[in-house]
Amino acid sequence: MSEIKITDLSFAYKDQPNRLILKDINVEVEHGEFVCLLGPSGCGKSTFLRLLAGLEDPTGGTLEMNGKPLKGSSLDRSVVFQDYGLFPWMTAGENIMLALQQKYPKKPKKELKEVALNMMKEVGLDESVFKKLPKALSGGMKQRCAIARSLSIDPPILLMDEPFGALDAVTRAKLQDLLISLWNHEEEKKTVFFVTHDVDESMLLANRILVFGQSPSNIIYDKKIPEDLKITRETIFENSKILELRNELINHINRDVADHTTIGQNG
Ligand code: ADP
Ligand code: MG
Repeated sequence: MSEIKITDLSFAYKDQPNRLILKDINVEVEHGEFVCLLGPSGCGKSTFLRLLAGLEDPTGGTLEMNGKPLKGSSLDRSVVFQDYGLFPWMTAGENIMLALQQKYPKKPKKELKEVALNMMKEVGLDESVFKKLPKALSGGMKQRCAIARSLSIDPPILLMDEPFGALDAVTRAKLQDLLISLWNHEEEKKTVFFVTHDVDESMLLANRILVFGQSPSNIIYDKKIPEDLKITRETIFENSKILELRNELINHINRDVADHTTIGQNG
């Protein structure tokens, strides 16, 4: 059985019920897949992720997790946003502790602090960061902290919405590597849904890429990345098979954008 099964999903925001954002989405995702949701800005990627997070309900169709309808938000599905989502009045450590206390309400605080500190170490944060407020941290450190918070509660499903979109290129590359390494080293791999509009980022991270089209959006291309392709920052522009895949992805996005531009001009 697939972990996530989405059938004929459609969605419109309540303030514009006649404007479908997503239409006829059908997809099944297996446990442990790293899925990148790729598509141009405004096509509905965040909306799709919000549905997976249970922050919105489908307008039509169904969303199932392990055979049961997915309802509301849950500690099974942790979300990392582009803007970090840390509470600014709490220290980095308190932000992580808050999530841990929700997950393990009966565990003593001291034990949870150990877990939080260990997790911070895993994501490359120094112990001294525990007591710092988010405003005293760089963007990269804030995002490391947000990742630590999400991973600390060990959710089977991790939802990430352009988490590295606001970071400079070097910091972004470091965090991409960190994420790959954390995911690779897990015995029981998490299922990850990672939103991006960056083709190269999707290729570096994912073992499956879903390309979203525009208005109303659905999945226009579903590509499993062959394991032997070994895409890295070094091979991405050298290996001919990888370049072929990169062109394939870019062509699908461009063709869809062109189709919609034509409709716009005629109408
Ligand atoms: P993406 O993440 O791919 O950039 P979004 O899912 O954020 O796209 O947005 C898809 C469409 O839904 C956009 O046209 C946007 O204006 C609209 N939208 C997003 N959030 C809301 C909301 N809360 N209420 C109404 N419309 C929204
Ligand atoms: Mg978005």
